[in-house]
Amino acid sequence: MERDIYDEDHEAFRDLVKDFVKRHVNNEAIEKWNADGEVDRATMLAAGEAGIIGLSVPEEFGGAGMLQDYRFRAVVNEEVIAAGAGSLAGAFGIQDDLAVPYLVHMGTQEQKEKWLPRMATGEVIGALAMTEPGAGSDLRGIKTTAKKVDGGYVVNGAKTFISSGATADLVVTFVKTGEGNRPDAFSLVLIENGMEGFDHGKKLHKMGFQGHDTAELSFSDVFVPEENLIGGKEGMGFIQLMMNLPLERLSIGVAGAAAAQAALDWTVAYTKDREAFGERIIDFQNSRFTIADMATTVDALWAYIDRALLAYKDGKLSAEEAAKVKFWATEREWEVLDAGVQLHGGYGYITEYPIARAFLDARVHRIYGGTNEIMREIVGRQIAGKR
Ligand SMILES: Cc1cc2nc3c(=O)[nH]c(=O)nc-3n(C[C@H](O)[C@H](O)[C@H](O)COP(=O)(O)OP(=O)(O)OC[C@H]3O[C@@H](n4cnc5c(N)ncnc54)[C@H](O)[C@@H]3O)c2cc1C
Repeated sequence: MERDIYDEDHEAFRDLVKDFVKRHVNNEAIEKWNADGEVDRATMLAAGEAGIIGLSVPEEFGGAGMLQDYRFRAVVNEEVIAAGAGSLAGAFGIQDDLAVPYLVHMGTQEQKEKWLPRMATGEVIGALAMTEPGAGSDLRGIKTTAKKVDGGYVVNGAKTFISSGATADLVVTFVKTGEGNRPDAFSLVLIENGMEGFDHGKKLHKMGFQGHDTAELSFSDVFVPEENLIGGKEGMGFIQLMMNLPLERLSIGVAGAAAAQAALDWTVAYTKDREAFGERIIDFQNSRFTIADMATTVDALWAYIDRALLAYKDGKLSAEEAAKVKFWATEREWEVLDAGVQLHGGYGYITEYPIARAFLDARVHRIYGGTNEIMREIVGRQIAGKR
């Protein structure tokens, strides 16, 4: 089904992204990122120079000023994932969807001026640290504290599973500034690379997204100046996290749809090329039925995602609607990828093949950004009229 949500600006931008992909994404680069467990800084800087990160950064701070129009980010996801570089798409996603928005939408003027220009160029890599060893889904169970002292806060605690955590220069960190677990007991602070007592910890070995770092972080008596409190207001952290939820969930849904589309395209190409019993794999009825299912699922995915992209642009995508998108899209993604792997036979299991990498990457889409169980809980609670 033809999609119709992109206009000529988006298509011109797609050409820019395609050009970047042609110059910077190839097997050698992907292998290097996978071996190093991170995307190299030169690639992030090149992305900054090409203007394909920092999309929501206002023009006055050196960005593209696309604010609420996530369609441009969707284009980046589509092209980078189609090139088999899920890890690079992940690194871009953390920068643009998880770190930058807290400064663009909630930062003080001083914070914006200090950080956004360098986030748009890729000189400053951001991360968002919420999860802790003892608290993931239940975020109000975090133990990292920020105690008020003269001129700022002293932070103690640990975070885990932080995407871009090893390479980040700036970490938007969810901390407790009050007692108990009421929403106003939490704040977001900016913790900078090099602050005394801040340790990036070790990179975690994952089944997928091998080329994008995920790390543990620890904070031992880290002094964070008052001006690093996001928005300059204490007790707003939980509300600030809630404000970015629609975007976070939409971004995972879009990445899921882009991976499903890529899996379909790779599978069609592969099954037209490979033969068994004197016939192309696609000439077996079972293959055609499977591909028909994949193609129809991908059409339905885009129809839903495109509707959500437009709702987001108009400021109408609620956290609950975005939760539906996140869990439904990532589950369809999983089905499509699994079917695609099967039609690739043994090669579908070999990580040299993009479908194998995308399959492994896809698994975490159902876990992070709020697990799919938590997404269903949010949707079900709203329908049931429970808070
Ligand atoms: C590769 C990767 C990257 C990540 N990146 C980041 C990042 O950049 N920043 C960050 O802060 N975090 C990040 N995370 C953490 C991620 O968001 C959490 O792992 C996720 O929210 C789940 O939390 P948990 O691991 O503590 O699982 P738990 O909360 O312990 O959940 C375990 C299981 O119990 C289920 N469960 C829990 N509560 C309920 C309930 N009320 N009802 C029904 N079922 C429930 C869950 O769905 C899950 O199946 C990342 C994780 C991974 C693996």
